[in-house]
Amino acid sequence: AGATGTFIVGGNWKCNGTHDSVEVLVNGLNAGTIDANVEIVCAPPFVFLNQVLDTLDKSKFSIAAQNCWIGDGGAYTGEVCANMLTDLSIPWVILGHSERRSLCGETNDIVGTKVAYALSKGLKVIACVGESLEERESGTTMKVVEEQLAAIANVVDKTGWKDVVVAYEPVWAIGTGKVATPDQAQEVHAGIRAWFANSVGADVASSVRIQYGGSVNAGNCAELAGMEDIDGFLVGGASLKAEDFVTICNSA
Ligand code: PGA
Repeated sequence: AGATGTFIVGGNWKCNGTHDSVEVLVNGLNAGTIDANVEIVCAPPFVFLNQVLDTLDKSKFSIAAQNCWIGDGGAYTGEVCANMLTDLSIPWVILGHSERRSLCGETNDIVGTKVAYALSKGLKVIACVGESLEERESGTTMKVVEEQLAAIANVVDKTGWKDVVVAYEPVWAIGTGKVATPDQAQEVHAGIRAWFANSVGADVASSVRIQYGGSVNAGNCAELAGMEDIDGFLVGGASLKAEDFVTICNSA
């Protein structure tokens, strides 16, 4: 891990679960033995946030929402605003996930605005970036990722980055079982850190934590965790199985 902070693992439960399956997952997580020097953030669907808040062992895990709205609330049918999350003492929100970018029309500018807004309300943010297969094959990976980061940097103060974790998630690796090789991931993570050094500041470059996401599982996490600039993971599918997720959390 290249960053100075604690290794940080996020569990992105996406749009999965029932009241009963969440109970099973939470019980499994609470029973897990977790290394003391890892920070863990679990992100259930909105409707299960209260259940997870009431039952998850918050001495080991913190909680994130998977998205939030830009405004203070009001006439935004179907949305959940940052103030509602802070009202429930939810410390984290995931923003800019590739599924929201591609399926819900979230542009770089929208994601930047959301990150700045969530930070202004006191939330900590896992901000996701990553290239598609087509972009990787055409050699534009770093350009795409840098544009995604720049859209955030344009609206976030330098000091704001202390509350941001960057999740590098190549779209072609998400939910596909096709994990980036440790070298592929490391190359982009190092590129992201270099971008921070050049575009934001050396202090932020050395402190910002960069997670890898995309088909991380209990079998491949250890090798990835050993790469110099990988400071944690954002885990989808494998975060729904308590035992696998605990293994990933302990992989640093
Ligand atoms: P995956 O998802 O682990 O199921 O590939 C990762 C993510 O989308 O955050």
